[in-house]
Amino acid sequence: MNLEIRNVKIATATGISPVTDYVLKYITGNIKISDGKIISISNESSESENVFEGDGMLAIPGFVDPHTHIPFVGDRAKEFLMRAKGAKYSEILKAGGGIHSTVDSVRKASFDDLVTHGLKYARWFLKSGVTAIECKSGYGLDFENEIKQLEAIKRISENIPQKVVSTFLGAHAVPSAGEKAYLTELKHMLDVVKEKDLAKFVDIFCDEGAFSVEGSVKYMNYAKSKGFKIRVHADELSSNGFAGIASDLGATSVDHLAMCSKAEIKKMAQNKTMAVLLPLTSFYLKNAFAPARAMIDEGVPVALGSDFNPGSNTFYSPFLNIHVAVNHLNMTPKEAFVAHTLNAACVIGLEEEIGTVEIGKRADILILDAPDIEYIPYMPTNELVRAVFINGVEVFENRDSFPRQN
Ligand SMILES: [Zn+2]
Repeated sequence: MNLEIRNVKIATATGISPVTDYVLKYITGNIKISDGKIISISNESSESENVFEGDGMLAIPGFVDPHTHIPFVGDRAKEFLMRAKGAKYSEILKAGGGIHSTVDSVRKASFDDLVTHGLKYARWFLKSGVTAIECKSGYGLDFENEIKQLEAIKRISENIPQKVVSTFLGAHAVPSAGEKAYLTELKHMLDVVKEKDLAKFVDIFCDEGAFSVEGSVKYMNYAKSKGFKIRVHADELSSNGFAGIASDLGATSVDHLAMCSKAEIKKMAQNKTMAVLLPLTSFYLKNAFAPARAMIDEGVPVALGSDFNPGSNTFYSPFLNIHVAVNHLNMTPKEAFVAHTLNAACVIGLEEEIGTVEIGKRADILILDAPDIEYIPYMPTNELVRAVFINGVEVFENRDSFPRQN
């Protein structure tokens, strides 16, 4: 099928590798699409049957979210209110909240329930312009329920227009059996995950109250030996040096990093390890923000993700994420934009297909009612999204928001 998106102002990063200079290219013209791919960008218009009139609006690559905790069920609204009133995590745990309450809900949930909730959330993401997402397990913490989550991700991906990349996060929390016994169990799970081809990445939460550095290193090495790419949750609550160690181990990305040290930033820059920052979680928990400025100035390729999950952050809008990145992390609008498009695509290994609006890439394009990129952090509403194209097919159109912003 052919499509022409006519008369748009394109703003995009370029290329197929993580960017550290955050330079954007601007072109005004028409985007021609054939078989889901961009085949030309020019001022010439052709006799196309399918035309989307852009009317001078902004055309950008679809947002990529490289870090979510879909699928899950249940809510932790009580816990949110306790925290809002100043409760500590230990008090929340005592009251039956925390990650283990989600684990209980997910274990009790049927496969179909998990899928249905995942589909709903994916739809929310779509309406806010997210055209590719990473999803992970991590609320099962045993063989049956971790595999159930990964199978649910597979089913979800088959039923939504977005591209989905799957991560095995069996090592999300230490169950009552203890770290040593559980890590042994996790290795058996990894074998099955590999056999069934259920995940591209293996992830671990190495922090205070989660897995130890020693156990994490052994487990990551095992995952690598099985042919998995690795990613890690590190330096969220405390700095234990694991972000630097994971970088040396060849991790594709190191995520969270609110407490990241200067030495670790240097290491990540040297190794070109991608930093996935999740400022919506810091915002939600009223915690410290990651030192984005120091990372970017040192040459670490930075990506942005939502960390959407039922406990520590229920925000998912890339618009709000970019607002927080600019307002609280001192990133520039261009840096935040590239971090949520091309660099995020690089994290999940889709850089050759998506992340930019360029000839040869998949036509995952958003039409925004915004004059330029700088407008996004200023007016961070999903209502700016006027149309979402995935693979050159219009999968969402918002006709509610008139007149135009300017
Ligand atoms: Zn996470």
